[in-house]
Amino acid sequence: MPDQLERPLPVFPEPDTEPFWAATADHRLTYQVCRACGQIVFHPRRHCTGCLLGDLEWRESAGQGTVYTFTVIRQNGQPFFRARIPYVVGLVDLDEGFRMLAEIAAGPGAVHVNQRVTVIWEDHSGLSVPLFRPQE
Ligand SMILES: [Zn+2]
Repeated sequence: MPDQLERPLPVFPEPDTEPFWAATADHRLTYQVCRACGQIVFHPRRHCTGCLLGDLEWRESAGQGTVYTFTVIRQNGQPFFRARIPYVVGLVDLDEGFRMLAEIAAGPGAVHVNQRVTVIWEDHSGLSVPLFRPQE
């Protein structure tokens, strides 16, 4: 049984998101673009969310973005997250045009909408979890 105070992590095999997680081990934040229609696709999946074709290519984000919105988590029944409260989770608009949900590693009073943020990495065995921190 895993340590209750360790972050829950993806379980593999996971065919849709496994290439994304493999790239995180090298601190690369990746997303998909449809070769047929140009749609940017995130979270990773097998088919384009625009035209439903399955011809997606992987690209790498520079990891720079803007906070679209956020919330402060003050209750969580899962032991790892309960030990972190209060913490911030936000929707971040990456400069390449996709939006992702992630923890923003800053105090609840230090995050605001439209704030510029940069990806940082929490390393684990075989993968890293992308978090964001406010830019200086
Ligand atoms: Zn498409």
